[in-house]
Amino acid sequence: MKKYDVIVVGGGPSGYTAAIYLSRAALSVLVLAGAQPGGQLIFTTEVENFPGFPKGVMGPDLMMAMEAQAKRFGAEVLYSEASKVDLMGNIKKVWVGEEEYQADAVVVSTGASSKMIGIGEEAYLGRGVSTCAVCDAAFFKGKKTFVVGGGDAAMEDALALVKFAGEVNIVHRRNEFRASKVMQERVLSNPKVKVIWDSEVVEVSGEPKLSSIKVKNVKTNEITEHQLDGLFVAIGHVPTTKLFEGKLELDEKGYLRTTMTALMRDTKWRVSEKDVWLDGYPTMTSVEGVFGCGDVVDYRYRQAVTAAGMGCMAALDAEKYLADKK
Ligand code: NAP
Repeated sequence: MKKYDVIVVGGGPSGYTAAIYLSRAALSVLVLAGAQPGGQLIFTTEVENFPGFPKGVMGPDLMMAMEAQAKRFGAEVLYSEASKVDLMGNIKKVWVGEEEYQADAVVVSTGASSKMIGIGEEAYLGRGVSTCAVCDAAFFKGKKTFVVGGGDAAMEDALALVKFAGEVNIVHRRNEFRASKVMQERVLSNPKVKVIWDSEVVEVSGEPKLSSIKVKNVKTNEITEHQLDGLFVAIGHVPTTKLFEGKLELDEKGYLRTTMTALMRDTKWRVSEKDVWLDGYPTMTSVEGVFGCGDVVDYRYRQAVTAAGMGCMAALDAEKYLADKK
């Protein structure tokens, strides 16, 4: 059993940023980065909107640089997933298999994963398939693109794409969108957008990049083939919170609740705004000494830079919490 000041569970932009701040503050830090460290950026090719890289940076390179920066200040990184947690009480316990690790505080930054259609499109991520048009739309200037989904994320993707793409086709499995009226209106009034209602993408193909999809009308079973340059999958996200079910408060979508998100969107949590911003710990979860940051908390912005920013906030809150406790 080994004890640290802080254990960071999750190795994406928020987790590594928290680790950089914590270890640089001379706290002992263990990062459980998971079997596939780097978070969603590991599946991304070029990142053009992370500040500080005027020529862009490859997602995996950015993550390796964040990890090296955390290690430079002494953070230890394990490429393993936490298998069990006991977060109540002063000493927090986190297990990796049979191995137990302890800490005075825990930062949860386990992220979220994009839901996939399940037709093998995952293999084309970064090669014609994207789960974030805000990130990737600029690579599709004048191109033919398809968006799958009918929620706000799909509308947001379509609106990001119309600025660049030549054509934006939305494939939705029903005959009405679930997105907010205002987003729908913006999308449907754009001449670049066409909607393929009552339909699902059932096949993807192309080599080395995605070049063709088959779309099935679920009412008539008719299948049509379309040549394309980009497929944007926007059918929702799943926060990685299974490990924390029953241990930390989650919202109705399964995202981790923190004081900050409660203040932003949930009036049921009766906390005094003034107290939290001045004296409290905005990124603290429902359990004292456990902090949340990045996509496991946030389903609104979901950007590497916002996750990193929140990782910094969680680290500063954890540092303050440990100092206050002393
Ligand atoms: P969402 O609201 O759950 O919508 C998911 C969409 O994908 C639905 O239209 C759903 O179809 C479709 N879908 C789900 N599984 C599918 C599958 N296997 N195959 C084909 N289609 C599938 O998710 P979201 O759009 O990611 O939004 C999540 C939350 O974030 C929402 O509360 C949303 O309001 C919020 N958000 C807000 C903004 C904004 O305000 N700007 C932007 C993004 C997200 P059905 O409709 O048939 O179920």
